[in-house]
Amino acid sequence: MEMNKLMFMNGKIFTSNKEKKYANAMIIHNGIIEWIGNQEEIQDFQGAVVDLKNRRVLPGIIDAHMHPLLLANFSKQIACTPPVVYSIVDIIRELTTMVEADWIEGWGYDEGKLKEKRSPNRQDLDLVSIDKPIVVTRTCGHIISVNSKALSIAGINKDTPDPVGGKIDRDKNGEPTGVLRESARLLVLNKMPQLSMEENASRLAELTKSLYAHGITAITDLMASHKPMDYVDIYTLAREKGLTQNVVLYYMWHDLKINPILNVENTERKNPIHIGGVKLFADGSVSGRTAWVNPSFLGEEDNHGISTTSENELLEAAEYAKQHGVQLVVHAMGEQAIDLVVNTFYGKEPWIHDGPSIRIEHAAMPTLQAIERAAEMGIAFVPQPIFLYAEIESYLANLGSDRTKTTYPVKTMLNSGISVAFSSDAPATAWADPVNPFVGIKSAVTRVAYDGTNTGDSEKIDVDNAIELYTRGAQYITRIPNVGQLIEGYHADFIVLNKDIFEVSPEEIDQISVEATFLKGELVYLKEGVSSIK
Ligand SMILES: [Zn+2]
Repeated sequence: MEMNKLMFMNGKIFTSNKEKKYANAMIIHNGIIEWIGNQEEIQDFQGAVVDLKNRRVLPGIIDAHMHPLLLANFSKQIACTPPVVYSIVDIIRELTTMVEADWIEGWGYDEGKLKEKRSPNRQDLDLVSIDKPIVVTRTCGHIISVNSKALSIAGINKDTPDPVGGKIDRDKNGEPTGVLRESARLLVLNKMPQLSMEENASRLAELTKSLYAHGITAITDLMASHKPMDYVDIYTLAREKGLTQNVVLYYMWHDLKINPILNVENTERKNPIHIGGVKLFADGSVSGRTAWVNPSFLGEEDNHGISTTSENELLEAAEYAKQHGVQLVVHAMGEQAIDLVVNTFYGKEPWIHDGPSIRIEHAAMPTLQAIERAAEMGIAFVPQPIFLYAEIESYLANLGSDRTKTTYPVKTMLNSGISVAFSSDAPATAWADPVNPFVGIKSAVTRVAYDGTNTGDSEKIDVDNAIELYTRGAQYITRIPNVGQLIEGYHADFIVLNKDIFEVSPEEIDQISVEATFLKGELVYLKEGVSSIK
């Protein structure tokens, strides 16, 4: 029995435990923290000892809102975002590195960030290849740019009409430019080879290591579906292939209405892969000027964005969530969208008691009343601090500088007593390394965007709060059992940093890297070149 015991000593351990924030040693038994505290108190320890050599240790990061399957697939594509790409010329150069592939794919461009201030077109992409089809997805996911080969495979020419709900951009002669919007994308995307269950699972399994390299020990998928194949099945197969993080899936309400698959087994939180909630959208995005806002978007008096759900639909979805003891999870960015969710449930009984029954995703622009009511009702907010950092051009263009500084008011949320979790929404943000939690933490602590723009001093939070929101706060909201704090009885999921996040200047937080990641006391990642841990 003593053989399984392991002691870590000489660490600068930040525990995320409110009662006992710091420690320098812990004893782990069968993957569980048996004791944590001051090593001077230990007498007669029998077992293996690991010297942390005075390095900073944090609990493993829990990413409460992300899209691992998309991220896994995007990781096979070219990132057309800063800090790699700043122009169409850069996009062409980067895509050229992929010319051996059957389909050349890129993601994440935002014309506002490109030197040319426009989307890449067919002529640009033909410079990369005229024989291989090329598809580059805009950061929003709703628009693609393709080359001439892709247009010809899709049969799109001058005479092709715009499909219902979509638009084929055309030049002054009526020729397609290569930019396809909304449903017009499908003309090309439907011609692409579909990934099999096996391939999806393998890609997820490959992702596991890069997540550990970022210190992420628990993940979520906020857009789970059973089309074209079931996400529980994909993730279960990925687990057999080596995905070892805990996964919480949130299924789209539209899909569940057709195929109500929730049951006692797939919602069981003890299972490393389980369904945690029902997901709906209450509006669009700030960058697409489709968030349901009030006041209107800058320079467009009549544009208040769009509402994409209703009180009735929210109540219906909540009823189903309640029957299965899972959460209602609603994407809401604009003031009106957040108000709709908060007011629909204001005064109604929560159905979950060890965490929030309702999560509002992004929560970019809550009114003070919404903040007060959400706090009162225990409704949680899940913002992504990397958004303001990476997508600052969109915020300035669509909201203006003053209003941008009041978005994602994390300090105000915390002061009001709202439960908050940080997350990345990776890969749905215009950053080449979208899942990196240290970029988000830096943004929350400095409230300065990547280009130096001030994003609101009054909403800055401390480093320890930012870490707590990515660990203990994220646990409370995802409800994954026994993680998020380094505390007796919890899983020994923790990370060792190359620099002390409490000592570096806030501007350097994004440069911090993870040297080692432990899951249940086991070393699952060791940075190249780092020796001597274990
Ligand atoms: Zn998302």
